[in-house]
Order: sequence, then C-alpha cells, then structure tokens
Amino acid sequence: MTIFDVIVIGGGHAGCEAASASARLGARTALVTHKRETIGIMSCNPAIGGLGKGHLVREVDALDGLMGRVADAAGIQFRLLNRKKGPAVRGPRTQADRKLYRQAMQREIFHHSNLEVIEGDAFDIEVTENEISAVILADGRRLPCKSVVLTTGTFLRGMIHVGSERTPAGRVGEAPSLGLSATLQRLGLQLGRLKTGTPARLDGSTIDWNAVGRQAADDEPVPFSFMTDRIVTPQIECGVTRTTDATHRIIADNIKKSAMYSGQISGVGPRYCPSIEDKIVRFGERDGHQIFLEPEGLDDDTVYPNGISTSLPGDVQEAFIRTIPGLENVEIRQIGYAIEYDHVDPRELDLDLQLKKMPGLFLAGQINGTTGYEEAAAQGVVAGLNAARRAGGSTSYTFSRTDSYIGVLIDDLTSRGVTEPYRMFTSRAEYRLSLRADNADVRLTPQGIELGLVGTERQQKFGRYTADLDRYRAQLKDSKVTPKEASQHGIQLNQDGQRRNGYDLLAYPDISYERLEAVWPALAEAPRAIKEALEIEAGYAVYLDRQKADVEALRRDETRLIPESFDYDLISGLSNELKLKLRAAAPRNIAQASKVDGMTPAALALLLSLVKKLD
Ligand code: FAD
Repeated sequence: MTIFDVIVIGGGHAGCEAASASARLGARTALVTHKRETIGIMSCNPAIGGLGKGHLVREVDALDGLMGRVADAAGIQFRLLNRKKGPAVRGPRTQADRKLYRQAMQREIFHHSNLEVIEGDAFDIEVTENEISAVILADGRRLPCKSVVLTTGTFLRGMIHVGSERTPAGRVGEAPSLGLSATLQRLGLQLGRLKTGTPARLDGSTIDWNAVGRQAADDEPVPFSFMTDRIVTPQIECGVTRTTDATHRIIADNIKKSAMYSGQISGVGPRYCPSIEDKIVRFGERDGHQIFLEPEGLDDDTVYPNGISTSLPGDVQEAFIRTIPGLENVEIRQIGYAIEYDHVDPRELDLDLQLKKMPGLFLAGQINGTTGYEEAAAQGVVAGLNAARRAGGSTSYTFSRTDSYIGVLIDDLTSRGVTEPYRMFTSRAEYRLSLRADNADVRLTPQGIELGLVGTERQQKFGRYTADLDRYRAQLKDSKVTPKEASQHGIQLNQDGQRRNGYDLLAYPDISYERLEAVWPALAEAPRAIKEALEIEAGYAVYLDRQKADVEALRRDETRLIPESFDYDLISGLSNELKLKLRAAAPRNIAQASKVDGMTPAALALLLSLVKKLD
C-alpha cells in the first residue's frame, strides 16, 4: 500500500500551492479533494492580486509557485494599481477569465510530477501514537501518510445564508465538510466562526453598457510571473456604475431581512470587504457606492458586480440591483449569498503553519481565518514546503517579516490571531520599502533554490537576470562624472566639483536610467527589466540603508527562540497580568513577545536576558 509523504486536503488556492510545493521538494504527495473539476475554481471575484495581495502573488511566484503563472495565462484585464505612487505600494492585479484560470491550474496540477489527485471527502485524520498516520475518507478509504496539510476553505461546517434561508454548503452547489470539524475539536483546538459574502451574478447581455462608465486595461500588461515574457490573452474593459438613492432606500427598508442583520449569522465578516448592507449602515448613503461590472470570461457574458455582495432575499436583490444605472433591465443568473464557516484560531499554529498540539498536521488558507485567494496561496506554499520537509526528516523553514509579505502574514496570524477575516495590506508590512512587488524574485528565489522549491528553468533564467543586474549595477557604480561633465549632457548638479557615480545619480528623482545612457552609451545595452529594476533599487537605496539597523535588530529578535515550555514565573519583575498574557500568547520568539499587549521595554529586556541564558 502507498504511504504518502504528504496528503493535502482541499484543491482550492491554498491546497494547489501546498500540493505543488510539497511535490516540488520531491515528496510523494496526494491532493485529496471533493471534485477534480473544481480544482482552480474562484469561489468569489474573478480577479487575482491588488494592493498587498499582488505582492503575495509575486512572492509565491518567486518560490516557483503556481498562482502567478496561472493568472498570467487567464488574465483579461491587467492593471498596476497605485501606478502614480511609489513602487513599494504598487499592486499588480488582473481580472481573470474563470474558465481559463481553472483550466490553467488543472493543467499544472494534473501534470505535476510526484503528485496524485484523489477525489473524495476527507472525513477524519488518523493519529497513531501521537503521529499522523492516515487520512480517512467518508467512503471508508484509508490513505496512509506522514504529514497532512488541511486547506478546507469555507467548507468546514459551511452554511449559506440568503435572507432567512439557510443551506448547509461549502460554497453554492457544493456540500459542506462535516467530519473534519469534529476531528479538529477532538484535537483540542480552538475553533471560531467567520463569514464572507458574494454578490449576484448578472447576465451581461441584459446590461445597458452605454449607460455605464468604462475602465480599460493597462496598455502594456505587466505579468505576475518572472517566467512570463508577454501576456497574450486579449484584454477587455469593465463597466463602472454606482448605487443610487433608490438602491439605498430599498436596502435600508429591507435591512432586517438580510441574513447578516437579522441576527441569523454569528460569524464575523471582513471589515475591508463589506457587504452592500454594511456599506449602507456603516458608511451612509452620500454619493452612492461604486460598482465595477467585471466580465467573468472572454466567451462568457456573465458579469460579476464587484461591490454589492449581499445576503438579502433574492427578490430584494433583484429590486435594488435594478435601481442601478445600466442595470434597470438586468437578469440575475445566480443570487448573492453569505457563507459562514469554521476556522481554527491561527495562534494554535507555529510559524511553519504546523499545529502546536498535533505535529505533522499543517493548516493553510481560509481555515486559518484569512480571506482571499492570494493569502491562501501564500500559506499553501509554506505549509506544503514544511509538511514535505517534516516527512523527509528535516527541520521547518520559516519566513521573516523582514524578507517577505509571506513572513508578515504568518507572523501576524500566529502571534495575534484574528478577530475578523484577515486580508493583506501594504500597511501591515513595516519594511514595505524593501518588500516590493518588483523585487520579490531577488528577495525570495535564492531561498527557494536553497530549499529545492525552484525548478531548473527558473534557476537558469534567474541566474541570467541577477548576472545582468550585478553587471550593470557595477557598471553604474564604476562610471563617474563631475558636475561640469554631467551638465554637458543636460544633467544639472550642484557645482561642488565632486565626482558622482551613475548609481548615485539614479537616486535623484529627476534622473532616469535613460538620461544616463546619454552620458555612458554602453548602459543602453541592458535589458529593459534591468534598467527598471536598477532605477527603483537606486531610488530606494538611501531609505534602505537607514532601515538596515532596524531590520537587523528584528532578525536577531526573530532568531532568539523562546522554548515552548518556558516558565514565565521565572521572571520576577513581570506583573501577573503580563505573565498571563504571555502564557496565553505563547510567543515563539522575542520579536513575537515584543508585540504581546502590555509588553514594556523593561519586561522585554528581562525576558531577553533569561532566554539568552538558556541558549
Ligand atoms: P477554497 O478555495 O474554499 O478551497 C477549498 C477546497 O477544499 C475546495 O476545493 C473543496 O472542495 C475542498 N474541500 C473542503 N473540504 C474538503 C474535504 N473534507 N475533503 C476533500 N476536499 C475538501 N475572498 C476575498 O478575498 N474577497 C471576497 O470578497 C471573498 N468572498 C467570498 C465569498 C464567498 C461566498 C466565498 C465562498 C469565498 C469568498 N472569498 C473571498 C474567499 C476566497 O474564495 C477564499 O479566500 C479562497 O478561495 C480560500 O482558498 P482556500 O484554498 O483556503 O479554500
């Protein structure tokens, strides 16, 4: 009988990345999921990336994960958000053709070496002598394994709400996952309820497109993946419209019928992705709320109205949607709904996404209290990587807040837990000047190569890229001009007689790489990507130098591990209240301890001195 190194349960965004990461490491991997045909399905909005989320996709890609390549194959409206702001907060995003996305993801998964897809409902996880020994399917099959990654998304005891109607489901038309909640409870884990919602889907042929505004794709789509040279999918426009006074009146008059406002749902929803009911109640009705009408595919005229997720009854949904300009005669293909599901308190997890109470069992995705495909994918890579390492007898590998948004995400989840579905923002990363979407490859691909996550093709392409980067950086640093020489090429500098090198000149806001080519023509030979990268890098160099000391201090604190069994009573100078909080939070390192509510510099110094003594 086959003994799998790793079994991943759930073929959603977290599960696909986890299975692929594990298989890339050479671990014998199985992906157990309800239906092969739903692998790669986007449960909610047909889009990948955005502010903060786009950074995660770039990082998953830098580790040779799937999401970036798949989004490039399916993207039908690429836009670089915040283009006018600095590169650190730019967010790559694309709308995706749902069918193309699913097909591209299935191609990746079905043809992956070391990876077997098994259809079935995982019902229980067998533990023998405190070690994971098998996954048990609802039909009685037993799949022996060494590690398990659980990525059940919104399926754990999922319940759909529309008005007062409740339907047990993992998402529309799919049964919930029931057995595994009991398994998790048996393991003594803290479960919570969260909720999220989705809008109605509209028949695009019944929309009056002349009555709505338009938003075009970028002229030159910027791919997510380092491996994609060019986007070949046709790019489309989407529509833009707004809610009206009449819309707000209907929603306000029927608010009690909304599942979310009738007291029927106990779970907490995402504050940053509010339903239209939330928007009316919390933000008022002033200018109307913007709605993007996003086509779901090139040969599918279904439209996703982004901005009006709801759990009002179907007839109320139809009534309020028809008060929106352009949608007066619209037909609804599928009504919107809210879904409530179980999640595990992520403080039950270590930084490798392994449960502290059950070694060998890893969790990733929505089950950890996050929301979004990108957050799920990022966790999937980390869980899959570490599940495979554990099965192979290696220690875990963790990412730092200083090197990646992946590190920020996992540190936030495991140290602070969640009170609402967690989504990524650039503001969550204190070192966002260095954690940019544009330099994700340089930050993470070397780690990925070291870990065995990165395939040969990418290794070679990355090698060529960094060689070029080093070469032209060195060339810039070696090329020097006096202010007088520079002025002969139209570059005005302080006439202080000092010679400056090309790299320093690039840091000036008004000096582009192109302008330097006039001074040193050999620089023009660099590939365009290299020119752009050096321009951004040099522009940030001065800030990054300033940040260096902070980054190093945090790195030191992150590596100062606090033993699991650490006895806080040993620290005589700590208040009882703080001891209680530290015991509850169980920080894994000094960096996490510093974030515990009520922690003071003096208390941290005491803790640090004791931890140092244990080294
Ligand atoms: P999922 O994509 O849900 O995948 C879970 C997979 O596990 C499924 O394939 C399922 O079949 C499988 N599975 C579950 N249990 C078992 C089992 N016992 N055995 C075998 N297979 C199993 N995100 C946003 O960013 N913004 C939003 O506004 C938003 N709204 C949403 C609205 C709705 C109604 C839903 C359903 C989701 C929404 N999402 C939203 C969330 C987004 O879909 C998820 O964050 C993302 O899909 C999570 O990925 P995942 O891999 O964790 O789980």
